[in-house]
Amino acid sequence: DVTLRLSGLKKTYLKGTPAEVQVLRGADLELRAGEAVALVAPSGAGKSTLLHIAGLLDTPDSGTVEIGGQDATGKGDRTRTAMRRRDVGFVYQFHHLLPEFTALENVVLPQLANGVSDRAAKARAMDLLGRVGVADRADHRPAALSGGEQQRVAFCRALANEPRVLLADEPTGNLDPGTSDQVFAALMDLVRESGLSALIATHNLDLAARMDRMLRLDGGVLRPAE
Ligand code: ADP
Ligand code: ADP
Repeated sequence: DVTLRLSGLKKTYLKGTPAEVQVLRGADLELRAGEAVALVAPSGAGKSTLLHIAGLLDTPDSGTVEIGGQDATGKGDRTRTAMRRRDVGFVYQFHHLLPEFTALENVVLPQLANGVSDRAAKARAMDLLGRVGVADRADHRPAALSGGEQQRVAFCRALANEPRVLLADEPTGNLDPGTSDQVFAALMDLVRESGLSALIATHNLDLAARMDRMLRLDGGVLRPAE
């Protein structure tokens, strides 16, 4: 029941130049179905690089990424995109919702792109929005929502296609502490109910402590953290 397996990931930027930076030096990770793992790292340690490689948005110099037992190594863009759309949800510090569409539409659209019927997509979207307490905001555009509401909608969008893996980069980093706490709780409820696995980068050690385990990215490798 390993949903995401990273093995021996290495990544160097600007190789062979004076500015060369070895960001990953053999990072390993096994994420099991249903677990939420915190990723803590100092700024610049390579957590965005790691999350992008794990989500098949970027490729490592060496090492492998397996999602749901399927190895993405050496696969072409079409296969990687198909794997990403089916199996991976992303959440960022800023919501990246489409500004001209309503909250509901933002959660419906990725499903339509995956071939779900309009009716089923709307039903799933309303269910997700309801679970995080923003069903009454479904017809509002992002600009009309608070920061916490925007992030809740972004979580729903990330989970719209029932991914196996959720990758989150500082999902509450843009919110004030009180809101951050509530929004994080909503995210954890969604993760628990859906049985997916989540890798959540955060600087907030209180939030990290509420996950199943904590990993530190330091010196280009992942280690258990306390
Ligand atoms: P984090 O998300 O932990 O802050 P990043 O993965 O964004 O770290 O970056 C890790 C290191 O790699 C930083 O030193 C950053 O400047 C460098 N870096 C990231 N992306 C690139 C890139 N495309 N080209 C060159 N250097 C990069
Ligand atoms: P779409 O189905 O909208 O074409 P993609 O298949 O390109 O989306 O991407 C799937 C996921 O990857 C989306 O959640 C999107 O937010 C994220 N994503 C795509 N490209 C990038 C990128 N360059 N940087 C960060 N996230 C990205």
